[in-house]
Amino acid sequence: MTTETRRDEIADGLAGVEARIAEACRAAGRAREELTLIAVSKTYPASDVRLLAELGVRDVGENRDQEAAAKARECADLGLTWHFIGQLQTNKVRSVVGYADVVHSVDRPRLVAALSGEATRAGREVTCLVQVALDDDPGRGGARPPDVAALADAVAAAPGLRLGGVMAVAPLEEEPGKAFARLRELAQAVRDTHPGADIISAGMSGDLAEAVANGATHLRVGTALLGRRKPFVR
Ligand SMILES: *Cc1c(COP(=O)(O)O)cnc(C)c1O
Repeated sequence: MTTETRRDEIADGLAGVEARIAEACRAAGRAREELTLIAVSKTYPASDVRLLAELGVRDVGENRDQEAAAKARECADLGLTWHFIGQLQTNKVRSVVGYADVVHSVDRPRLVAALSGEATRAGREVTCLVQVALDDDPGRGGARPPDVAALADAVAAAPGLRLGGVMAVAPLEEEPGKAFARLRELAQAVRDTHPGADIISAGMSGDLAEAVANGATHLRVGTALLGRRKPFVR
């Protein structure tokens, strides 16, 4: 596909997503400026990230370190903000801290310690979100709601880390609005203790309106911007 055609395709995707965000903001009585759109570029090439940047996108999300590290390197000249949104193994933390500005998937104390150690070593400040499990599926990552406060405290106290707020993925078997309402309550509890932790990362291609209605500040959108991903083969 020529770059021109791909550019048009992505521009169409972006216009569609912005229209949905605008409608969701209208319905919720919120301002577009309260929201950050993160373009989830996983499985798509660095050339797509470049096109997104040309179209005004400043925030990019990736979920696998190897792929993300290479893309961030290729796009280093663009000055984008990189969000790591995938499950994170401690042995990948050093690499991730090399390019990620925000890690959305902090869900256990060991990860806090590893991120803090590497951020300090690299002389960087990494914004961390506590990922919350809104269901009982341990395979999808996330801290259980009763563990969120202690994890948030640990991030806030860790050198090299800044507590940004919370993140979640809506469960498959529940109406997303209901799940995001619980996330909003958890976010408020975290903010009562840590006033600066005002990020709520929620909402993907299929449920961004429900996320906006429930106070999301960051939307992570892939498919609706870039198209359906090919099934990932390991
Ligand atoms: C892939 C992914 C997204 C984007 O999902 P789409 O449905 O393609 O918009 C958002 N958040 C996380 C954690 C993801 O892994």
